[in-house]
Amino acid sequence: MRFNADLGALCRSMIAVPNDLMAAAVYVGDGHIAVERVPVPEVRPGELLVEVSECGICGSDLHLVFSRYAKPGAILGHEWSGTVVAGEGAASGWTTGERVVFSPTPGCGVCRPCRRGRPSVCLQRQPSDIREMRGAFAQYIAVSSANLLRIPESLPSRVAAVAEPTAIALHAVELSGVRPDDRVLVTGGGPVGLIIVAVLRARGVADVTVCEPVALRRERALAVGAVGTVAPEDLVDPSLGGTVAEPYAVAFECSGHASAAERALGQLDFAGTLVFVGTGSEPTRVNHNRMIILELEAVGTFNYSAEGFRPALDLLDSGAMPLDALIEADAVPLSGVMEAMERLSRGEIPAKVLVEPGVS
Ligand SMILES: [Zn+2]
Ligand SMILES: [Zn+2]
Repeated sequence: MRFNADLGALCRSMIAVPNDLMAAAVYVGDGHIAVERVPVPEVRPGELLVEVSECGICGSDLHLVFSRYAKPGAILGHEWSGTVVAGEGAASGWTTGERVVFSPTPGCGVCRPCRRGRPSVCLQRQPSDIREMRGAFAQYIAVSSANLLRIPESLPSRVAAVAEPTAIALHAVELSGVRPDDRVLVTGGGPVGLIIVAVLRARGVADVTVCEPVALRRERALAVGAVGTVAPEDLVDPSLGGTVAEPYAVAFECSGHASAAERALGQLDFAGTLVFVGTGSEPTRVNHNRMIILELEAVGTFNYSAEGFRPALDLLDSGAMPLDALIEADAVPLSGVMEAMERLSRGEIPAKVLVEPGVS
């Protein structure tokens, strides 16, 4: 039986949402977010209504707000976990009360990137305009039932909410070709860089150094598993055509700053690899002579590998991740999203901040 709009309306009445309105942190324009009462999303055929438990604040959310890139009226937030509140009638057999995360659709399997094992950039992916998204900084979200994954019994919802950035990190580490005995540099010790460090450690890469300007974040990088940290100004430049004294085999650029990427390139060993993870507005200048002489590689990583979020949930559930250091202990209500974003952008909060839309 297909889940239809009538059932959506029925289920909304089942969960007693007053006047079909819910609280959401809405982008109101001019770099600002405000809590508003907005309609509970309409549940279309094939979709379920999920009550959001937690939703992480992502660097891309900061970018959408502070670069005024989002469209007014957009509800951001894509790193969420939640509970199905409208399940009866769903073709997929979901029932109310099941805890879920959203997992991306696998690639088509036939386009050129898919045939090359890169479904993360499948040509058939539905382009979604993230500038006007209806995301999870809200009490409810409507999502395709085909994209849901059950959260393992033993995994708290607040931890499952970081499945998305963990999947991103797993994909980046996989694409980098890093080996356990490689010396690795991570530039940018914010939430993304920290998860990369944790995933590297969980995958057996021991020698990980984090380059980060903010002392608080350098400290947290050690708590997450880095063996050392360095401030950007303390990295020395290499000799022309040579390497620094202790070069790195792989560098993950997670800050999104062009200067960090350029500095990371200078730290690489012969046959080293620079992995671009963090996006930014300034383009990076590449010293092509250096790339040639040292036979360096640069690789961009986007989205997730073919298995979606399943490996991320498994890793988070395995006990191998330093969750207390990766996730800030204090979650914020919707009314705290704007302040948390400002503090994150100033580097005052080192790790992942979770928003609890159901808490006022
Ligand atoms: Zn994200
Ligand atoms: Zn494809």
